[in-house]
Amino acid sequence: MKAISVLGSTGSIGTQTLEIVDDFPDQFRVVALSAGRNLSLLVSQIQRHRPDVVALADPALLAELKDRLMDLPADTRPEPLPQLVGGPEGLDVVASWDSADLVVTGIVGCAGLLPTLAAIRAGKDLAVANKETLIAAGPVVLPELKKSGSRLLPADSEHSAIFQCLQGTPWSDTARLSTGVPTPGLRRIQLTASGGAFRDWSAADLEKATVADATSHPNWSMGKKITVDSASLMNKGLEVIEAHYLFGLDYDHIEIVIHPQSIIHSMVELADSSVLAQLGWPDMKLPILYCMSWPSRLETPWRRLDLTEVGQLSFRAPDPAKYPCMDLAYAAGRAGGTMPAVLNAANEEAVAQFLEEKIHFLDIPKMIEGACEQHKADLAANPCLDDVLAVDQWARQAVREQVKRGTTRLSSASMAA
Ligand code: NDP
Repeated sequence: MKAISVLGSTGSIGTQTLEIVDDFPDQFRVVALSAGRNLSLLVSQIQRHRPDVVALADPALLAELKDRLMDLPADTRPEPLPQLVGGPEGLDVVASWDSADLVVTGIVGCAGLLPTLAAIRAGKDLAVANKETLIAAGPVVLPELKKSGSRLLPADSEHSAIFQCLQGTPWSDTARLSTGVPTPGLRRIQLTASGGAFRDWSAADLEKATVADATSHPNWSMGKKITVDSASLMNKGLEVIEAHYLFGLDYDHIEIVIHPQSIIHSMVELADSSVLAQLGWPDMKLPILYCMSWPSRLETPWRRLDLTEVGQLSFRAPDPAKYPCMDLAYAAGRAGGTMPAVLNAANEEAVAQFLEEKIHFLDIPKMIEGACEQHKADLAANPCLDDVLAVDQWARQAVREQVKRGTTRLSSASMAA
């Protein structure tokens, strides 16, 4: 029985992880949960899974959580109540909970960085969904992994696909994952991208893009931030940097290909020119389950892939003019040091501003480019954690200032009109 700690249990990744625990009660049990603000869902998760410890990002909500648990009917109230902890320290407690064998990182954004580091320092194995941690702090995370021996198992579907393909090679030793050293025999990675919400829109039509448009993904059901990232292709750009850190390839050998059906989840090209791919319906439960069961495979009743039903698998190169975020991500990855942290934080802030309808969709890459340009003179090539945290804050502020100065394509007033 594997004991699981879930960071971000109330989100898309978190709830799917708990569904898997429900599906395999003999294999997994939940020992620790953390959430942001969704107390109603968290209470029902606590009732169902009876964790030892629960953390809330905002400690001011702890008293309300306790009251809600105490108000439950006695026959459904967990006895004893879990230990309740709050704030950054509370998240660290859940991330490093002693009895946890695997920590699933389902917190969205750079808020996942410190808890992920806490899990690594505690020597835990991690199912990594929170890609922003590796992107912002790859140079800090890799040495910590070496020190603690903790293993990063990729939950992102593309990196899971690569990881699964590599299991079939002579170099399937996962100890090589995330050491920054190229995986031997791996020549090229092709990350597949659905093309997001605007896959079939022309570049000119993007002028009309609204929040509702950008948050409707054609293939995947995910949280809002990553759905907008998919629409701008920044998600794929972030995944390029994530792949660089996980598999050690240089940026010239990590490519993006648009594959509208999202059946092939990514491909690897090996030394002898063979290309391996992993296929499946677009469903995050499979890559999450693989992290949880690895190195075993569990029998599932899930819908089996039928290629005759799919009919056609198609591929095309992404258009850099339509998706400027892609080139921004490659440039930040190549610049290295603190630049990916700036890219990531500027993107988080710009997406938040877009979701609040303060900027237009087409402003997102402009905001990011502005922050990255400004940061060039201050780039730290070998950052420590404090450097990463400092540039993360700086980049968010830099975007807020651009928005305040009105250097955006469309003001909120003109959008409303
Ligand atoms: P969601 O927005 O659905 O969920 C985010 C979770 O993080 C929620 O539990 C939320 O709590 C919690 N949270 C939000 N802000 C904070 C904070 N400041 N501190 C602590 N916890 C916080 O996101 P997703 O599940 O979609 O994504 C999670 C991560 O997984 C992201 O990094 C994303 O890129 C990655 N990912 C997601 C995929 C998907 O299919 N969803 C696919 C591949 C990767 P609450 O809701 O209670 O406020």
